[in-house]
Amino acid sequence: MSLEPETAEYNLLLIDDDEVDVMTFQRSLKKSDIKYSLTVCYNAAETLSTIEKNTFDCIFLDYLLPGIDGLQLLRKLRDMSINTPVAVMTSQGDEKIAVEMIKNGAFDYFTKSDITPDKISKVVITAVRLWDAERQRQVAEKKIIENNNRLNAILESTRNLIYAFDRNLNLISFNSSFKENLEHLLRANGIVRTDINLHEIPIHEERKISLIQNIEKCFLGDQFTVLEQVSFSNDSHKEVPWYETTFNPIINANGEVTGVAIYSQDVTENKKIEQDLLQAKNDAIAAAQAKSEFLSNMSHEIRTPMNAIIGLTGLLLEEKFEGTNLENIKSIKYSADNLLVIINDILDFSKIEAGKVTFENIDFDIRHRMGELRKTFEHRTKEKGLDFVIEVDEEVPSAIKGDPYRLNQILFNLVGNAIKFTSEGFIKVSVLVIQKTVDSIKIQFTIKDSGIGIPESQQSKIFESFTQANTDTTRKYGGTGLGLAITKNLVQLQGGEIGITSEVGIGTSFIVSINYSIGTSENLEATTQKNSEPADLSGLKILLVEDNLMNQFVAKQFFKKWNNELIIANHGAEAITILRERDDIDLVLMDLQMPEMSGFQAAEIIRGNNSVVKNTDIPIIALSADAFLETRRKVIEAGMNDYVTKPFKPEELYSKIVKYTQKPSSL
Ligand code: ADP
Repeated sequence: MSLEPETAEYNLLLIDDDEVDVMTFQRSLKKSDIKYSLTVCYNAAETLSTIEKNTFDCIFLDYLLPGIDGLQLLRKLRDMSINTPVAVMTSQGDEKIAVEMIKNGAFDYFTKSDITPDKISKVVITAVRLWDAERQRQVAEKKIIENNNRLNAILESTRNLIYAFDRNLNLISFNSSFKENLEHLLRANGIVRTDINLHEIPIHEERKISLIQNIEKCFLGDQFTVLEQVSFSNDSHKEVPWYETTFNPIINANGEVTGVAIYSQDVTENKKIEQDLLQAKNDAIAAAQAKSEFLSNMSHEIRTPMNAIIGLTGLLLEEKFEGTNLENIKSIKYSADNLLVIINDILDFSKIEAGKVTFENIDFDIRHRMGELRKTFEHRTKEKGLDFVIEVDEEVPSAIKGDPYRLNQILFNLVGNAIKFTSEGFIKVSVLVIQKTVDSIKIQFTIKDSGIGIPESQQSKIFESFTQANTDTTRKYGGTGLGLAITKNLVQLQGGEIGITSEVGIGTSFIVSINYSIGTSENLEATTQKNSEPADLSGLKILLVEDNLMNQFVAKQFFKKWNNELIIANHGAEAITILRERDDIDLVLMDLQMPEMSGFQAAEIIRGNNSVVKNTDIPIIALSADAFLETRRKVIEAGMNDYVTKPFKPEELYSKIVKYTQKPSSL
């Protein structure tokens, strides 16, 4: 607080034992132009007790006091932390004393003979200004100390290392963590100082060079962090710790970099945790892969005997059975078909989990697909007495481009569920165009039923794998809880969306929308073309390359029915031997996975440049237990003509054999 000379009232203390001098002083003071209140003390004791109780703006001190001199009293005041400005009054000729007093903290002196009103007022005003400045300095100093303490507290609040170098690489600041480390290092090298230059710090030369490089980089003005493995010892058995170190330029008031502050944290533990996590993640991925491989292998293995069961029951159904026998055979067929759906689900699911699903991109006709859907489910809906309605909006173009097989799978799944969970009413499938550009189209498929419905709380869960709406479901309706998880994945992997609205007791709608390209009608899948008349296969010689005895047996039954001669090879190598000798074989049915020589290898040999077989162009149809695009692609790459999945549908196999063996009829 600064006092304005004209208005302020100054609190003054005069210490003098001489009555006459006091009166002279008072007279001059009265005549001066300042407002004041004056306290007079006549000795040291009185002074000390007065000064304890009051604050003064200026003290006038007579040098000569009874029992004590002014210098001693001044020292006493300063010892008591009383910093009030003191002006010393001396007798004539005592300048030496005055100099001594000023050295001890007095701010001015004058001889008693100099006491004039003007002098007094000048001294008072100067004293007040001085003290004001002094008080401000004290406040600033206090702030600096507080600030420093705060910063120190921050520096000391961590076990990490904080230190700083100036531009000459002298160590200028550090926290105690750093100090401990440094002292330890220095002591080990016989150095006891800590005011040291970086060049003198006994660390590895390599480490020193890297530190200096980073510090010099930081001199350019940017903060940065490096992660490095730092070795402080030569012990090669000791684990080398990881440090994360931040370099931060120290900038002065002119914006110049005067040094670098460094914060270094030992992150070895974090690194270890990170590595452990990575290991755990890799283990989990490996475990998931092993699981999905296991699932894939298992379902693959199960499909082979299924092939036999389904094929043979199909054949049996064509015989003349009646009554209970017929019912029993139908039940076997029904159960086997169901089992196959489950196995296919598991296989699909494992492929999705392993990220191995690929999609076709071919032209197809949605209306044709809907016809297939109707054919597949018509019988079941009739059996349950349900109305089955399929509506395709006029706007849906005749050819679109995408994956028709996956669309089938999605719709079959949803319609299958709808029928399963509906006991009366209807199933309605509608197909709508909801968005269209020149070359793309978004199609929405709604599968609506009047079935049991799904409670709202369950609606999001049913899309998770192995989840069913309630535990009753399995008992009542069966199922694996995989269908919707697969469906959702297949929709999303094609960039589409799937949603649900449902009300318990009223029914459920699944809404699927998928973006397709617009296709061209010329390229439409072969299935939409006119079916050729059933051709006669009798007399054809077919080479079946198949290692599984049961599959051989099933095939034999069919070919017997179709009046073909079937020649059997147990693996690829055997097939090559046969084809080397015979040129009367019309077609090869090739299993893919076989011992000795796989179907892929055999096909490559047959088609190869230096082929040893008689007819290198012989049609080859692959038979395989999985229907994945990847496998289909490999089949074509190996030079085979076509592909049939096992368990094969007799009609499909039949028509493919026809396709590759009938000569174009001469017109
Ligand atoms: P699941 O093979 O068990 O049918 P899904 O994943 O296909 O497995 O279906 C999961 C569950 O969702 C079913 O068990 C059933 O509870 C419920 N759900 C699916 N579709 C319908 C529907 N149309 N109506 C009622 N509930 C359904």
